[in-house]
Amino acid sequence: MNSGYEAVIGLEVHVQLRTRSKMFCACPNATGDTPNSHTCPVCLGLPGALPVLNAEAVRMALVLGLAVSANIQPESTFYRKQYFYPDLPKGYQITQGPVAIIEAGYLDIPGDARVRGEDGSVRIRVERAHLEEDAGKSHHDLDGKSSHVDLNRAGVPLLEIVGAPDLRSAQEASDYLKSLHRLVVGLGICDGNMEEGSFRCDANVSVRPSGEATYGTRVEVKNLNSFRFMRQALDHEIERQATLLERGEPVQMETRGWDASLGETRGQRTKEAAMDYRYFPEPDLPPLLIDSTEIERARMALPELPAQRIQRWRDDYGLGLGEAQALAQSPAFAAYFEAVVESSGSGSGAAAWMLGEVSRTLNDRGIGIDSFPLAPEALAKLVSLVESRSLGFGTAADQVFPAMLAGGGSAESIMHQRGLEQVSDRSTIEALVAQALAANPGPVAQIRAGKESLKGFLVGQILKAGQSKLNAKLVNEVLSEALAKGGS
Ligand code: ADP
Ligand code: MG
Ligand code: ZN
Repeated sequence: MNSGYEAVIGLEVHVQLRTRSKMFCACPNATGDTPNSHTCPVCLGLPGALPVLNAEAVRMALVLGLAVSANIQPESTFYRKQYFYPDLPKGYQITQGPVAIIEAGYLDIPGDARVRGEDGSVRIRVERAHLEEDAGKSHHDLDGKSSHVDLNRAGVPLLEIVGAPDLRSAQEASDYLKSLHRLVVGLGICDGNMEEGSFRCDANVSVRPSGEATYGTRVEVKNLNSFRFMRQALDHEIERQATLLERGEPVQMETRGWDASLGETRGQRTKEAAMDYRYFPEPDLPPLLIDSTEIERARMALPELPAQRIQRWRDDYGLGLGEAQALAQSPAFAAYFEAVVESSGSGSGAAAWMLGEVSRTLNDRGIGIDSFPLAPEALAKLVSLVESRSLGFGTAADQVFPAMLAGGGSAESIMHQRGLEQVSDRSTIEALVAQALAANPGPVAQIRAGKESLKGFLVGQILKAGQSKLNAKLVNEVLSEALAKGGS
C-alpha cells in the first residue's frame, strides 16, 4: 500500500457452538441431514412457542471468555433483532443486547513488523462476545428454477466475537483469526470448519492517513471463508480504499463481498443503521444470570491454552517464540510434538526434528501430520540416537530418516544394518587426532602460529581416517585440546 496510509481492521467472528441441541429448543444441532428434519415449533417460529436457553451454550461462552481474559457479565440480556429473510422464520433473530455475556478481553498475536516498524507481539482487544442464534440456509442453485430453504441450521447456537479495530494489516487480521480458530477448536467449543461455515468471519476495514488519530469510514467485507481468501480480500480492499483517498474521493460505508474468482471485493448493499433493526428486549427470555460458582466450574474445566502451552515449551525446552508458535500450529501437530518429547526425553531435539525434517516432508508431500507415516515413538527413537550422539545429525537426516519413511524399519535397525553408528569413544578419537598431528607437522606448526583456518583441513583428515563415522563435535574438541597443549 501507499506508505502514506494506514489500514485499520476489526473482525466479527461467528463461532458455531458444538452443543448437542439448538440454542432455544431441543432439536439436534447437526448438519448434513434431510433438510428441515431438525425443526420444531420453537425454531420454526410458530406462534406461542417459547424459547428455553441452552445451558451448554452458556458454558461454552464462559470458557471462551476465560480463555481471552475477559470480564464475564453477571447479568446480560437477550434482544430481538428484526429483519425479513426467507431463512429467518420468526422474522427476528434472538441476540444479546447492550450488555453481552463476555466483555473486554484480549488476544496477543505476533505484530506485523512491516506496518508496526518493529518485531514483537501486539495485544488485540476483544470488545465483546455475545450469544445468538443462527439463521437457516437458502439454496438458490438446486434445480435452476426455485430457491429452497433448509431450517436445520435455524436456531443453532452462535457466539459472535467482536474484535476491536486494533489490527493494522491483512497479515495481522489473518494471524488474529488463526489464533482465535486455534483457541475455539482447542477448547472444544467449535469444530472450526470454515468451508461449511462453522467458523465465519466478517472484516471491517478502513484506511486513514498515517498518523491520523480518528478512524476512516469503514467497509464490511463478507464471505471470507479461508485464511488465504481473507488475506487476499483485505489486501485488495485496503488498496482500493487507499486509491480512493489518494484521489480525494470518499469511501462509501457499505458491505462488500469477496469474489474469489474475480479476485476483488464487490459492493453488495449500503449498511443498515442499527435503528433499522428495531432492537428490543426479548420478552420470552429472562435475563441471563451467571454466578461465580458457574465461572469457577468453567475455569476448572479449562484445558491448557495455546498461549500457556507456548510459554511452557519456551520455559521447559528453551525454545524461541517463533519455534514454539510453529509447533502449536495445530492441535494435532502440537500433540505429535508432545508425544515425541515424552518418549525421547528431549524437547529441543524433538522441536528441531518437527520443524526441520518432519515439516519439510509434510510440505513436500502436501499432507498434514495426521497422515505422516511415522509414529511419534518411532521418530523419538531417532531423536534419542542423535541426542545421545550414537548417530550424527547429518547421517540421521540424510540416510536414516528417509529410510524410515520408506518403511525400512526402526532407526536403530537401519543404523546397525548400514553401519552408521557414530564413534564417540574418546580414546579412539584421541588416537586418530594424535596420528593426524604426527602426520601433518607443517600445518600443525602454522595453526599454532595463528593460522586457525587450517584447522578445518586437519578435522577433514581425521574424519576421513575414521571413515566419516566420528562424532565431529568431539573431534573438534579433542583436536583443539591437543593443539592447545602445544609440544613442538
Ligand atoms: P456493527 O454494529 O455495524 O456491527 P460495531 O460497532 O459492532 O458495528 O463494530 C463492528 C466491527 O467493526 C468491530 O469489529 C470493530 O472493531 C470494527 N470497526 C469499527 N469501526 C471501524 C473502523 N473505522 N475501521 C475498521 N474497523 C472498524
Ligand atoms: Mg456487529
Ligand atoms: Zn427446534
